[in-house]
Amino acid sequence: MNNLSQRLNRLQPSATLAMSQKSNEMKARGIDIINMSIGEPDFNTPEPIKEAAKKAIDDNYSHYSPVPGYPVLRNAIVDKLKRENDLDYTPAQILCSNGAKQSVCNTLMALINDEDEVIIPAPYWVSYPQMVKLAGGNPISIEATIEQDFKITPAQLEAAITPRTKALILCSPSNPTGSVYSFEELTGLAEVLKKYPEIIVLSDEIYEHINYTGRHASIAQVPGMKDNTVIINGVSKAYAMTGWRIGFIAAPEWIVKGCNKLQGQYTSGPCSVSQIAAAAAFAGDQQCVEKMRQAFEHRKDLIVSLAKDIPGFEVNMPDGAFYIFPKVSSYFGKSYETRTIQTSTDFAMFLLEVAHVASVGGDDFGSPDCIRLSYATSEENIREAMKRIRETVAHLK
Ligand code: PMP
Ligand code: GLU
Repeated sequence: MNNLSQRLNRLQPSATLAMSQKSNEMKARGIDIINMSIGEPDFNTPEPIKEAAKKAIDDNYSHYSPVPGYPVLRNAIVDKLKRENDLDYTPAQILCSNGAKQSVCNTLMALINDEDEVIIPAPYWVSYPQMVKLAGGNPISIEATIEQDFKITPAQLEAAITPRTKALILCSPSNPTGSVYSFEELTGLAEVLKKYPEIIVLSDEIYEHINYTGRHASIAQVPGMKDNTVIINGVSKAYAMTGWRIGFIAAPEWIVKGCNKLQGQYTSGPCSVSQIAAAAAFAGDQQCVEKMRQAFEHRKDLIVSLAKDIPGFEVNMPDGAFYIFPKVSSYFGKSYETRTIQTSTDFAMFLLEVAHVASVGGDDFGSPDCIRLSYATSEENIREAMKRIRETVAHLK
């Protein structure tokens, strides 16, 4: 029987979580899988943050928090936005949720009416179009090719805008490509957006601190854009806190109020102990962030050089996040034993089952020629995974 709502039947499961689950199941059966499917730092949460959480438990942070989060956390986020991004927000313009994932979903649910269009540059994070559909809207993708470093141009953006366009989702540094928009590139997109002041930009900056260019830029910093922008960020990636589930939006007050109303009926404020830990992360010593960034940069250089050595892999140089997104379509139509590779998902399955390396096919990222590999794992795993992939794809004829 399937008596689920149409809303749910329209929704596809998360390909990143599905692939990671499949690889964990194979691991549990004793197969030596290298999991490069899920995007999460392999580091543990830094000690001072854990200490703050332990103290929060002893201090009885065991009650409901205000729906948008404790003042101590919202103030720490206001200070972070000023210190790191030179942006002025008030605590009333901040709302904390169960991870940046809920922050994106809240914002879309708060803004989108049936049939509204949301422009999503492809390749995109798997959840964006699904969340737009959940909110009743239509995801409209713009293709950014590997030749354009997976970044859209102002002309492409303008061509995609219609009277139904309600929002644009930007993700920089990008999951899944690692591309980073410079301030100048964001200014170019903003020049188009200023002609359409009703369009809201969701600026997903969750990979802000995993950046190899030396500078993170937010479209909210472009003069005239802040009142049309919702910044989405959190602690998951910068502080290796994926399981603590704290994300936030920084946005015009009318949007924060809308998300607050939704969250108040839906989940209430996020976990009280995690909020205190996140406040300690934002307010504490930031050296841990730089140390992890440097480790990711080393791994990026390693994986890119090894992946470029794999015949048939076309690899761009990522400027941020912890993913490579090689184009592998030269293998489509080739076979090994009874298996023929037709799509990037077939290719990812082939790598999982034959090379025992878990990746994610590009299909669900809106880029059917590519696969995503997360290098948030040890250098030893990266070397071994690339060796396995190189040896395994050699069988494809
Ligand atoms: N945005 C992007 C682009 C992501 O890759 C992720 C990772 N899950 C999120 C948002 C959500 O992060 P969080 O763990 O804070 O929910
Ligand atoms: N953002 C990570 C990824 O893309 C975590 C999994 C998810 O939430 O999709 O792999």
